[in-house]
Amino acid sequence: MSDNIAFERIALIGIGLINSSIARFVKKYKLAHEIVIYSRRESTLNKAMELGLAERAETDICSAVNGADLVILGVPVGANLKLAQEMAPSLKVGAIVTDVGSVKAAVIRDIKPHLPSGVHFVPAHPVAGTEHSGPEAGFAELFSGHWCIVTPPVDCDAGAIQKIVEFWKLAGSKVEVMDATHHDKVLAITSHLPHLIAYNIVGTAADIEAVTEKEVVKYAAGGFQDFTRIAASDPEMWRDIFLNNQEAVLEMLGRFTEDMAALQKAIRWGDGEALEALFSRTRKIRRDVVKAKQT
Ligand code: NAP
Repeated sequence: MSDNIAFERIALIGIGLINSSIARFVKKYKLAHEIVIYSRRESTLNKAMELGLAERAETDICSAVNGADLVILGVPVGANLKLAQEMAPSLKVGAIVTDVGSVKAAVIRDIKPHLPSGVHFVPAHPVAGTEHSGPEAGFAELFSGHWCIVTPPVDCDAGAIQKIVEFWKLAGSKVEVMDATHHDKVLAITSHLPHLIAYNIVGTAADIEAVTEKEVVKYAAGGFQDFTRIAASDPEMWRDIFLNNQEAVLEMLGRFTEDMAALQKAIRWGDGEALEALFSRTRKIRRDVVKAKQT
């Protein structure tokens, strides 16, 4: 165990895909003496205990965080405020509270004001995941090779930031420290909007009367299959992402709609040059993305 990043007790609040993956890598690399888990439903806790993800399970959040030196919130972002209020009186002085939420400014707004002084809040977003949920879905290598964006508030303790950065590096992540509002803009276009498009296109296809839902399933070509995979992502989690990153998503959606209207016009007027110019530009971007992943 590395002395620099060792934690005596880690409390995982929520034990779904992300926190169960954290539990697995913490156990794999022996980064804590004890993991305590909290979840809303007892059935989730039972499953997680059967999988050997923790030493102790609690349905009371105060008992879960009591004495923990690292607390990780891994619940839909809309649930953070209530949980932060409930756990605040039981947090240990010197503890680090972090989260894994997909939006960051709203998370800081909802959690930070409720934490007692002497508790350090270092929000983070591992940009890694799958369309699956729950403790069975996690795996220790989930974060390996992916970015984790850490978004500390301005007055955050430098030592606490360093510990969280090192924690994510041990998970195999590449770590970037970023302002929370900037994070939300970047993720609005790279993750949130693509999910919205997937939810919409699958919904539209299923609604088109001339094409039955059966045909949508039967003839789903490669591209559409990818959309259905993304559109299978957890409904509660994604509801909360859109409600908590409203401004940035609406801004990106405005740009997207304008560009879509330009494409519509190019198709209507038979402007093949405009279509080909865009498709060539995007093909180059795809090649750059693949190249960046290989380095
Ligand atoms: P998940 O697999 O669906 O698990 C969610 C966990 O939160 C479960 O333990 C669930 O408890 C609990 N929970 C749900 N609603 C709650 C509520 N209202 N109050 C208290 N607990 C509640 O979720 P996940 O995929 O791990 O996502 C967790 C967080 O990670 C989210 O904030 C998400 O934005 C972020 N994230 C997700 C991904 C991804 O690809 N999935 C990637 C990066 C970041 P019960 O099972 O007991 O109901």
